[in-house]
Amino acid sequence: MVKRILVTGGAGFLGSHLCDRLVEQGHDVICLDNFFTSQKSNIEHLLAKRNFELVRHDVTEPIVLEVDQIYNLACPAAPGHYQYNPIKTTKTSVMGAINMLGLAKRVKARILHASTSEVYGDPEVHPQPESYRGNVNPIGPRACYDEGKRCAETLMFDYHRQNRVDIRVVRIFNTYGPRMHPYDGRVVSNFARQAIAGEDITLFGDGSQTRSFCYVDDLVDGLMRMMNGPADFHGPVNLGNPDEFTVRQLAELTVKLARTKSTIRQARPLPQDDPQRRRPDISLARKMLDWSPKVPLEQGLAKTIEFFRSIDLGRYRPPTPNY
Ligand code: NAD
Ligand code: UDP
Repeated sequence: MVKRILVTGGAGFLGSHLCDRLVEQGHDVICLDNFFTSQKSNIEHLLAKRNFELVRHDVTEPIVLEVDQIYNLACPAAPGHYQYNPIKTTKTSVMGAINMLGLAKRVKARILHASTSEVYGDPEVHPQPESYRGNVNPIGPRACYDEGKRCAETLMFDYHRQNRVDIRVVRIFNTYGPRMHPYDGRVVSNFARQAIAGEDITLFGDGSQTRSFCYVDDLVDGLMRMMNGPADFHGPVNLGNPDEFTVRQLAELTVKLARTKSTIRQARPLPQDDPQRRRPDISLARKMLDWSPKVPLEQGLAKTIEFFRSIDLGRYRPPTPNY
């Protein structure tokens, strides 16, 4: 059945891929964004579609729209972006959640919230199951994002218990792919950009810290399965690829795939509170959503490098100086 679907942060990296899929399925899609960390080029190809609308709006302000489903993705996601204006980051998570939950309550829409593996902080349990309550520094440089997202999860469950809002919470682990902002400072975009330009690859720390990288198509599939999954399954559920790599391995693979002469260099010490290791336990997503990622890192990374080769970097304004 055709639904009216709101995607906040819809012009961003994940949001634009989600809009693509929803438009393709014939739904009426409203993409809402303030373009803090994205640009119109991500959704330019959708503007002429009859079932796609773009609204420039900031989720920290209320809005009324008649919709059946809300994917709440609006929030800067890269450390360099969310630490640029940390107070605004917390406002976006918390007030954004309140405004979108208020809307969901009013129009009786189902709402999915994009939470994050950062709710686990620098984890002492490995891999991370949803039952792990995390190890977050509440006053560190990542706290604006981590605690903002934790509070948004609290709001989701309180609106559900108190107001019977139909909620879905997903905890997204590091996701990469085409349309990442080339200057977002995230490890995949930095390494790909540097490798293509033949510049040094900037390892932070000795590169022994780990991450588990999920390709965007797999992640978007998980989001949609969760939104349309079992009626009484509200999450939180981890979505991510359980294949774990050190950051040095990622650098080596990027150099190999880009066929570059870049050297891998320890550029600076590990940033404060940078998690040492991260890998999702996805048993719950497998069981409840029959979901698991399909795209191996080598394949997804090759597509991402291809994307970075194809874009004109001059057209991208670094949204923050932190790249
Ligand atoms: P992104 O920065 O590309 O997209 C975020 C979008 O939200 C951008 O288009 C930005 O302009 C918009 N936005 C930011 N603040 C806003 C505001 N106040 N009002 C309206 N729009 C606003 O990042 P992404 O990687 O696509 O992340 C999307 C969501 O997924 C975020 O909520 C993020 O926290 C979550 N997430 C992503 C990852 C990942 O690895 N990509 C991991 C965990 C969680
Ligand atoms: N990192 C790195 N070089 C870079 C950018 C990031 O070594 O140029 C490291 C960073 O310190 C972290 C990991 O790569 O350990 C992932 O960083 P990212 O900012 O992509 O996301 P995070 O998972 O930390 O939110």
